[in-house]
Amino acid sequence: MTEARIKSIELTPIHVPFKEYVKKALLETEGGLGMAIPSEEEWLGGDFVICKLISNDGTIGIGESFVWLPETGVSPAQIIDAIKNALSGYVLGENPFNIEKIIKRMDNNVSRSEVAKGLIDIACYDLMGKIANKPAYEFMGGKCADEIPLCALIPLADPMLMRGLTKSYLKKGFKTFRIKLGRSIPEDIEITETIRKAIGDDVRLRVDYNQAYDPNIAVRAIKAIEPFGIDFAEQPVDKDDYIGMQYVQKRVDTPLMSHEGCFSLRDIITLVELGAIGVVGINSERPGGTTNAIKAINYAEMKGMGVVLHNQPLGIASAWQIHLAAAKFHSLGHAMELFGDEMMEDDLIKTPLNYKGGMIQVPEGSGWGVELDEEALEKYATEPTISIKK
Ligand SMILES: [Mg+2]
Repeated sequence: MTEARIKSIELTPIHVPFKEYVKKALLETEGGLGMAIPSEEEWLGGDFVICKLISNDGTIGIGESFVWLPETGVSPAQIIDAIKNALSGYVLGENPFNIEKIIKRMDNNVSRSEVAKGLIDIACYDLMGKIANKPAYEFMGGKCADEIPLCALIPLADPMLMRGLTKSYLKKGFKTFRIKLGRSIPEDIEITETIRKAIGDDVRLRVDYNQAYDPNIAVRAIKAIEPFGIDFAEQPVDKDDYIGMQYVQKRVDTPLMSHEGCFSLRDIITLVELGAIGVVGINSERPGGTTNAIKAINYAEMKGMGVVLHNQPLGIASAWQIHLAAAKFHSLGHAMELFGDEMMEDDLIKTPLNYKGGMIQVPEGSGWGVELDEEALEKYATEPTISIKK
């Protein structure tokens, strides 16, 4: 058998609208985003790049990255530019199984660009699986769970609307909830108390402030809701205010998690070593695909910290997240947030993933175990697919 080589890269930028009821629910919230981020733009859907890596024998590996400018800071066009005009030179011609070498070459030649590098990494693992006819989790340490518990996400809205949403997900079987906070301390208390009463004492609760407060206010805000039993508090202060996160973490009992302020593996390590966070949050985009996610999870585990895998992607990156959770199940300690299926009008895969009772089944088959829906790719593409060859 000739050695596998990556022969070409295809990239398609897409926009998938939110489901109608999601758009309606968000428009009813203050600011229209269902969270405290003060973006001036309406949020009506998700922007993504779909990546295909094609090997010399015609096998295709697929990847997906989700971006939102107020959070990720990069657009689909920037990801495509980074891959087309820079990263592709260190990927084309490489053996997809040599993922550490590919990442090293990308890192040596192009600084940062975590999202674009992560997209290549995700497609590489699918390509390995497709070539070897094995599920991708086999390249991540094997499978430790057949299904993964999920956390339901409740947007920042009127407390009674938040309570209603919580109760509907509780009925569906969810046993962990994340509520958005950050309008004011009295409202945070009212919302948290209302939700805790609605779910009872046995259900786990986490909160996300989306950078709402100054560090000294954040300390008061978190202390005010600690009596309601909070697993962790996400991004209470400005995204790159690591010193502010450290200030808050030193003064509250609740572990903090960074999201908007955390991109690279070293960002995570810096936050942990500063004593600025107590839980590590990981997306498909950050710290950059499978390889860096595994490094971050292993590091967190050695530090005795839990890990939250969280995102709202389409089917491909959802399958990525599930495979990662299945492989690193014993290192997580927190239910996974995976809400693209609830939010997006289409998942861009042919057979939907199996969500049931607040759990998600691990997709079997080769690679991520999902198949790209080419018709949907064409439907949601915002620009024609570009093909990159040597
Ligand atoms: Mg967040």
